[in-house]
Amino acid sequence: MRVIVIGGGISGLSAAYYLAKHGVASTLIEREARLGGIIATERAAGCVLEAGPDSYLAQKPWALHLIRELGLGDDVIGSNDHLRVTYVQKRGRLVPLPDGLMLMIPTRISPLLRTSLLGFETKLRMGMEWFRRPRNGWQPDRSVAEFVAAHYGWEAVDYLAEPLLSGVYGGDPGNLSVTSVLPRFVELERKYGSLTKGVLRERRKAAGHAKGMPLFQTLKGGLGQLVDALVAQTRPSPVVLHAAAQAVEWVPEAGVWCVRAGGEWLEADRLVLACQAYQAAALLGATDGELAALLGSIPYSNSITISLVYDKAGFGHPLNGFGFLVPKSERQLLVACTWVGTKFSHRVPEDKAVLRCFVGGEDPGVLALSDRELVTEVRAELAAIMAVSETPVFTHVARWPRSMAQYTVGHADRLARIESRLERLPGLHLAGNAYRGIGIPDCIRMGKQAADAIAAPEGGLKTTAAR
Ligand SMILES: Cc1cc2nc3c(=O)[nH]c(=O)nc-3n(C[C@H](O)[C@H](O)[C@H](O)COP(=O)(O)OP(=O)(O)OC[C@H]3O[C@@H](n4cnc5c(N)ncnc54)[C@H](O)[C@@H]3O)c2cc1C
Repeated sequence: MRVIVIGGGISGLSAAYYLAKHGVASTLIEREARLGGIIATERAAGCVLEAGPDSYLAQKPWALHLIRELGLGDDVIGSNDHLRVTYVQKRGRLVPLPDGLMLMIPTRISPLLRTSLLGFETKLRMGMEWFRRPRNGWQPDRSVAEFVAAHYGWEAVDYLAEPLLSGVYGGDPGNLSVTSVLPRFVELERKYGSLTKGVLRERRKAAGHAKGMPLFQTLKGGLGQLVDALVAQTRPSPVVLHAAAQAVEWVPEAGVWCVRAGGEWLEADRLVLACQAYQAAALLGATDGELAALLGSIPYSNSITISLVYDKAGFGHPLNGFGFLVPKSERQLLVACTWVGTKFSHRVPEDKAVLRCFVGGEDPGVLALSDRELVTEVRAELAAIMAVSETPVFTHVARWPRSMAQYTVGHADRLARIESRLERLPGLHLAGNAYRGIGIPDCIRMGKQAADAIAAPEGGLKTTAAR
């Protein structure tokens, strides 16, 4: 069977790896000279610098399974959760998130009462939320902002949901779909009415299950280790073609897919599109205009990471936490900043301090700024927020335009329509952060599902679109 995988990020690499485990060789087409997509680890001044993702959620098992299979189990490290404090900027000052929050759901009373992040009315409302009753019947999809406001009020949206989700999705909770972004919370609401009650009840049931598990995991040498191991251990190794796929055609009479890349046409019996949805849309335009339109309608946000490496001696601010988030109402450019050496060991030598800043989101204007302008602006904001006036010994800027798919309201319906179009195109599979999970573990799961479907007895003719 001839299989082509388009896209050499973690989704495509996982598809190629699991295909190879099933004994199916593939051709991997990647337009960049480097494999790994958004995962990119750099080393400088003794520091491990993540230009893209720095870790994955430990709760989702697919990354750890793969990492162990690749023999990297001993290199897995957890986040230093005993030091975990996340600050939120409020009126220019850094205020710690109250203890006991499950994302934006409060589960402990006294830290909530003490915090200066939220006003009295919001606190009262959060307490009263306990008395919400389950509502019967079907509920339409809503935005995350509407959902959170209905439970805890708008201040909880502005100072909890918005900054927390901007850090993860680079998106606006007023647009993001609660059904797709927070499906577990929707389920808790359906079952218990109150999210706080739901979290506490479910936690009691699961007590002891995940005890001691850190929130995040990563690899000592950075997530680039995962990419290197995947490439090295995919046997039979894929033929890697470093060229942009320019067109895709389905030839029904022959039952083959033709892919034009690097000036030649390649044929395949099965095709995995593990590139961004808008790239898949451009490729599929001639084959199925409706499918292409659906894929092309999935919006993406931009992201830029700016790592600033300082000499620790004389560094003004205590790095007593994982970092801070800036809510939209107070935001200039900076969305979030991670205090790298506190969050993870093995990243920053004793004599250095590293601040990893995020800018971006849905404002395309930031991409027009030069690296120098970005660093200057971010340093000015750090001076105002953290009183850091030292000159960094080293800075690193990484740009990720249109990299984070946005699961906007109606995303689940759109996916259902995409899947129904795919049924007409035998042997075509989709994987990637545009579909059912933007984090690394979900991308690995979707790559594996495509590979498993292709290797299944019916030979992957029945399309499974990133379930
Ligand atoms: C700044 C940032 C921080 C993040 N942090 C985290 C984190 O800490 N934890 C976490 O779990 N997730 C995080 N994420 C999300 C996660 O990194 C991504 O969702 C995931 O890596 C996406 O993998 P992918 O393979 O689906 O897509 P990508 O990595 O985007 O790979 C797609 C690949 O397809 C290639 N391609 C596109 N079109 C073509 C074409 N026509 N021909 C050939 N090749 C093509 C691209 O060059 C690219 O290499 C972060 C994302 C960003 C941007």
